[in-house]
Amino acid sequence: MDCERAEEEILESFAEGRLRESGGDLELHLASCEKCRTFLEAQRMLDLRLSAAISAPSLSPAFRASLAERLQHEAVPVWPEFLPDAAHVAGCLCATALCAWVLPFAGASVWIAGLAFTVVTYLLQAAVQGSLEIWGQDP
Ligand SMILES: [Zn+2]
Repeated sequence: MDCERAEEEILESFAEGRLRESGGDLELHLASCEKCRTFLEAQRMLDLRLSAAISAPSLSPAFRASLAERLQHEAVPVWPEFLPDAAHVAGCLCATALCAWVLPFAGASVWIAGLAFTVVTYLLQAAVQGSLEIWGQDP
């Protein structure tokens, strides 16, 4: 075992909370390497100082259940994803039908203008939604 690997195992042991059983390779290396023993002792001192300085907050017994309940509520979307698109198309169809009935133009030209308006505004809505989703993502 070389010093680099020994240091990695020493650091991993602090993350796991104990020295890992590595078949004695680390112990053999530590017995013969002053540099790695010094590194291990420095890490132990740092771990002790950090443990003394930083204490974990105490959580109430109901915390875990409350957190699980909140996560479950946040995971289920309230509205289906297609709802804005469906509302947009339905609104445009209603508005176009109303215009074809009320306006003094030929019905076909109103329906063509309504279809064009629906497509253009749908694309605009999709662009705005996409930019909002990108903006709302974590960096
Ligand atoms: Zn070493």
